Amino acid sequence: MIVIMRSGAKAEEVEHVVELVRSFGLQDHVIHGTDRTVVAAIGDKRSVDLSAIETAPGVDRLVPILAPYKVASREVKPEPSIVPIGKGATVGDRKIAMIAGPCSVESRNQLFEIAAAVKEAGAVGLRGGAFKPRTNPYQFQGLGQEGLELLAEAGKEHGLAVVTEVMSIDQVELVSRYADVLQIGTRNMHNFNLLLACGQSQRTVLLKRGWSATLNEFLLAAEYVISAGNKNVILCERGIRTHETYVRNTLPLAIIPAVKRESHLPILIDPSQGTGHAYMVPSMCRASIAAGADGLLIEVHHDPEHALTDGAQSITPEAFHKTVLEMRQIASAIDRDV
Ligand code: PEP
Ligand code: MN
Repeated sequence: MIVIMRSGAKAEEVEHVVELVRSFGLQDHVIHGTDRTVVAAIGDKRSVDLSAIETAPGVDRLVPILAPYKVASREVKPEPSIVPIGKGATVGDRKIAMIAGPCSVESRNQLFEIAAAVKEAGAVGLRGGAFKPRTNPYQFQGLGQEGLELLAEAGKEHGLAVVTEVMSIDQVELVSRYADVLQIGTRNMHNFNLLLACGQSQRTVLLKRGWSATLNEFLLAAEYVISAGNKNVILCERGIRTHETYVRNTLPLAIIPAVKRESHLPILIDPSQGTGHAYMVPSMCRASIAAGADGLLIEVHHDPEHALTDGAQSITPEAFHKTVLEMRQIASAIDRDV
């Protein structure tokens, strides 16, 4: 349920409601809106004395939360969230965030060349896998810690927020030492223990949708992270499994308005995993902006033909630069910036 405070309610009144909520064994999440403060009270309400909360000083009214996800829902927080990603950048604000880089970190030269190019073209974040979830156990699995060190160095040198995947609970602490944003991959969206571990981290979480997860399951996965204590969650659509074969995954851009209706969390689109083909990436980037995405996660490689992973879906720095210019025009038409 949501406890809606009166506008102008005092800090002590909010604190008193929080204490009451806790005394009934419920979890509290205080959300300071532009107009008023609300306290989301999550948990089993059967033994709660609702009238004690309802009549507490400063309380306007109690409202049940109908969605199965609570703290991820727009019912609890009507204003869109602006999530920091490090190096002064945010996702969810008027400025649309470009996070670009190779699928995986392969070498210092590779990473630094791509990082310089994407920064120059307007990216605010550098993506790159150091731990790679590979379907085939005999293929390149990433450089591990060495990859993390290179990412941190390149991010620092170019002022780019570092986004990289964490595959297991025992990697959370290590990856958090080097990265600004922890990426939870599509294969791990249902790894509830990993979601909880990332929920206890101070780092922003970029949560990818499972390739067969529904929107409801996706938002419930985000709920795991937020309810564990980390409100800095960014959603990312990366395509789903369908019967189609002309694409690696089918990219459902209709999820953008659906997420905006259901949740306050920002949403990124990953057109690289989302299509599997470099030639489709620029048009999906443009379409994502037009549909209201808060940013893009794009695979860029200076030599896609020789990339160790996902070369076929990686665009060149030149193509990225050109696409950013096109996205800028579309963004201005909907009163946003890139
Ligand atoms: C990636 O971003 O390179 C990646 C492995 O993503 P996903 O988890 O969406 O497949
Ligand atoms: Mn990839």
